[in-house]
Amino acid sequence: APALAISDLRKVYDNGVQALKGVSLEVAPGDFFALLGPNGAGKSTLIGIVSSLVNKSAGEVEVFGVNLSRHRDDALRLIGLVPQEINFNMFEKPLDILVNYAGFYGVPRAEALVRAEEELKRAQLWDKAQMMSRTLSGGMKRRLMIARAMMTRPRLLILDEPTAGVDIEIRRGMWKTLKDINAAGTTIILTTHYLEEAESLCRNLAIIDHGIIVEQGPMRSLLAKL
Ligand code: ADP
Ligand code: ADP
Repeated sequence: APALAISDLRKVYDNGVQALKGVSLEVAPGDFFALLGPNGAGKSTLIGIVSSLVNKSAGEVEVFGVNLSRHRDDALRLIGLVPQEINFNMFEKPLDILVNYAGFYGVPRAEALVRAEEELKRAQLWDKAQMMSRTLSGGMKRRLMIARAMMTRPRLLILDEPTAGVDIEIRRGMWKTLKDINAAGTTIILTTHYLEEAESLCRNLAIIDHGIIVEQGPMRSLLAKL
């Protein structure tokens, strides 16, 4: 089954805005996929529906063949979500943030410690494991958000504009962590409005504008058209 299959997804907000007007797309297992589009295109709405934070108006969503409406908890267990805003407790240490997060999702403490070491190393934060998170740089904080989402060992990692408003050095550090995660087998979907970001990370992409997918395919064939 595809990592993500969306068919004819529609969203009309209570104020009448049609944020998604019949979106269909498929993301293959192992892919690194970008949903590229300008502000207001519908990217966050789509991510919100897939992560079950926003109610859809119509359409179907399946995660690795599990229908999100019919088997919500099973589908959500397969997903790791990295929200746009940094939302961990700044007065906790990175190691505790990760271990507590895993604990919340039922991972036994010994196993959580093993995973936390692995994820902190992958995010180049192992030497910061015992520091107060407040003292981490902006890039480190964002990589910690990624490491935290990986603690439940999701098969699909979803990031909503992970690098919005951060400078190029910070972006490069995040890209490395994401590439390592994808290389180890986790499917990644991210939204972005930077073509450059999609280009340096993703194999496949969809371009969304005004709630409609206007292009979809391998990065290389789309670049040839631009
Ligand atoms: P849902 O249909 O998913 O429940 P709602 O239409 O009820 O979503 O809106 C959720 C919240 O977002 C409301 O509190 C609403 O005021 C707020 N909101 C309204 N318009 C916008 C907008 N353009 N961008 C972001 N948030 C908005
Ligand atoms: P993007 O993430 O690509 O910037 P969004 O999904 O946030 O796009 O927004 C798509 C459209 O839906 C926009 O016109 C936005 O103003 C509107 N919108 C987003 N959230 C809400 C909401 N909660 N209530 C009403 N309208 C919303």
